[in-house]
Amino acid sequence: MDLDPDNPKHITTEVVGPLTDTLQLADTITWNTLANNIPKDLHWQTILLTLTIATGIWLVRKGHGSKGVDGRERRASLLQFLLPRDIYTHESARVDVWLWIFERLLHPFWAVALLATVGPATEQSVISALQWAFGDTPALQVNYGWMLLYSLVMLLCYDFVFYVTHYTMHRVPALWALHKIHHSAEVLTPMTRSREHFVVGPIWATGGAISYGLVGGVFAYLFEGNITAATLLNIGFFSLLFGFNGSFRHYHVQFHYPAWLSKWLHSPVMHHIHHSYLEKHWDTNFAAVTSIWDRMFNTLYIPEKDEYTPWGIGPETQGEYRSFWQNTAGPFRDWYNMINSKSSPQAGAVSSQPEQEK
Ligand SMILES: [Zn+2]
Ligand SMILES: [Zn+2]
Repeated sequence: MDLDPDNPKHITTEVVGPLTDTLQLADTITWNTLANNIPKDLHWQTILLTLTIATGIWLVRKGHGSKGVDGRERRASLLQFLLPRDIYTHESARVDVWLWIFERLLHPFWAVALLATVGPATEQSVISALQWAFGDTPALQVNYGWMLLYSLVMLLCYDFVFYVTHYTMHRVPALWALHKIHHSAEVLTPMTRSREHFVVGPIWATGGAISYGLVGGVFAYLFEGNITAATLLNIGFFSLLFGFNGSFRHYHVQFHYPAWLSKWLHSPVMHHIHHSYLEKHWDTNFAAVTSIWDRMFNTLYIPEKDEYTPWGIGPETQGEYRSFWQNTAGPFRDWYNMINSKSSPQAGAVSSQPEQEK
């Protein structure tokens, strides 16, 4: 028998025992799970961008421009400005993380099923409706201009659905009981963006899937399914322009836009207002990216420089929404009280104080 060096039989293969194999697999799964679930705001590129912008504000404003736990502007050294100890050691910041972990653990149970059904079903219904109304697809030719328009319409539609969903969550008591958990944050950190009650995830996801499905359906009909969103450097064109806004909205540093621009785009500091429990700030600045919908429905609030914004749900009820368990159980207790007060108005009037909307 010839000894052929190219014969694979003669190459020593690495033998991996079952235990090592299992551990390696577990390792891969853990890392993949972590990598897939780390909030966008904690990706190093986003953190770097946030810190760079914040440093710029610190330099321009000579140490001014960030807020403390009390929601008041204060002067700070660069380190305290970027990463203030009082904010990041606050119980609220810790609870942000626990609520996020809990939500993520439950995420797989609904996300795939929901996204695989709602988005495509919306898209297909729109296409069928357009075919029924206008006949066959006009099969337009795609160019970068159309792709830009597609991205822009997608952004506006997403922002509108976000606005309506968010507005409804504030105005319908049973939904406010859930969304209140986002607002019970007493300090703002980039993790606060992901702070939600675990029941809320599917509601936001349904809104997103419907908005993308609607626009996707219209453009798929016009371009015979050939359209894709415009990208720049492989990133969605508008995500590139507005992506940083999302993480900065829940950062304690005030990032203002000039007044004229704030009428069109939400500056990050406008979300500080949304999280304030002062009455004049209630039910304002609902949208995610643009100011168009807030302006149209009269809920736009452009803050003054260094405007005081105490965060949370207010001293009267804040004590009931501090710990992880309080925030997780709170909505169920609220619902229970709502049902009880409906079935016996007398008992309800005594047991539950009318909730302040914000
Ligand atoms: Zn809200
Ligand atoms: Zn928020």
